[in-house]
Amino acid sequence: MYFRFSMENILVTGGSGLVGSHLKRYLPDASYISSSDFDLTREKDVQRLFETKWDRVIHLAGRVGGILENIRHPGEFIEENLLMNTLLVKYARLSGVPRLTAVLSTCIYPDVCGRYPMTEEDLNQGPPQETNFAYAISKIAMAAQIDAYNKQYSTRYNYLIPSNLYGEHDRIDFEKSHFLTALLGKILNAEKEGGGTVKLLGSGEPLRQFLHADDLCRVIRDSVAKDITESFNVAPDENLSIREIAEIAVGVCTGGSLAIEFDRESPDGQFRKDVSNERMKEVLGEFAFTPLREGIARVYAHYREQDAI
Ligand code: NAP
Repeated sequence: MYFRFSMENILVTGGSGLVGSHLKRYLPDASYISSSDFDLTREKDVQRLFETKWDRVIHLAGRVGGILENIRHPGEFIEENLLMNTLLVKYARLSGVPRLTAVLSTCIYPDVCGRYPMTEEDLNQGPPQETNFAYAISKIAMAAQIDAYNKQYSTRYNYLIPSNLYGEHDRIDFEKSHFLTALLGKILNAEKEGGGTVKLLGSGEPLRQFLHADDLCRVIRDSVAKDITESFNVAPDENLSIREIAEIAVGVCTGGSLAIEFDRESPDGQFRKDVSNERMKEVLGEFAFTPLREGIARVYAHYREQDAI
C-alpha cells in the first residue's frame, strides 16, 4: 500500500519552490510544474494543465513571502493566490481528479484566540493578522472552496495547514525571505565578514513553530500512501520565541560568537499562532519531527557548502 503512489499519476504544483524541491525526494515519480510551465493565474494555462488525466493533485504553488513582502505587496498576494487557487481547484474537479491536497498556512488562524495551541476547530473564529491579512484570506477562501466542493459535489479533497517552514532548498533573500532563512543568511554574512552583529526585525518576543520542509514532505508522502482525506495542522511541538530561535541558530552555526540586535521599530507580525498536532497524529500515527537544533545545523551546513549568498 505504501508504494501505491508510484502507480498514480500525481501532479505537484509549485515544484520549483521550497516544499516542491524537498518533495521530489519523497515522491520521485510525480510530475512537478512551476510558473514557467503553467501560469496558474491564467485560466487557459490551468485548462491546458488538466488536459492530462491526473489521479491526484498536490497544490503547493502560491505567491509566498516574508513579512516585508506581505506588507509591501498585499494586492498582488491576494489577487495571484485567489486566482491560482480558485482555478486550480475548479478545473481539478471539472476534469474529475479524484484526490487533491492543498497546502495552506497557520497564518489563516485568528490573530488572537482564547486558547493555545489552536486546533482546527478554531479556524474562522476571528480575523487573521493584519500584516498577512490578504495572503491569509486567499488561503481561507481555498479552504472554503474545498469544504464547499466536498459538501456539494462529494469530492474528497483536503488541505494541510503547516506552520512556518525552513529548509535547504529555500532561497536567501533579505527582502523577501521568511525569518529563519533570512536569519541563517545574516549569520553566514556575518561569519564571512569575521563576526559582528546580526540585526533582526521586531522585538524578538513573538512565538513560532518552525517546521523543516522535509517533515511536511514526509507527511504528504504518508498521506498519499494511506489515502488520507482529512484536513489537519502540521506543526512541531517546539514553540519558541524569535529571540530563542536566533540564540539557538547563532549557537549552532557559530558557537555563539555573534551578537543579536532587534529593531523594535519594525513590525513583529502575529504574536503567536501555535497550533496543535493532535489531529495529525490521530490520522497518521506517531510522527518524529526534526528537532530545531538539528534542522538548523543541517540547513546552515548546506548554505555554507553552497556559498548561498
Ligand atoms: P515558494 O518557495 O515561494 O515557491 C512557490 C512556488 O509556487 C514556486 O514553484 C513558484 O514557481 C510557484 N508559483 C508562484 N506563482 C505561480 C503561478 N502564477 N503559476 C504557477 N506557479 C506559481 O513557496 P513554498 O515555501 O515552497 O510554499 C509552498 C506552499 O506552502 C505554499 O502554498 C505556501 O503558501 C505554503 N506555506 C509556506 C510556508 C513557508 O514558510 N514557506 C509556511 C506555511 C505554508 P516559480 O518558481 O516558477 O515562480
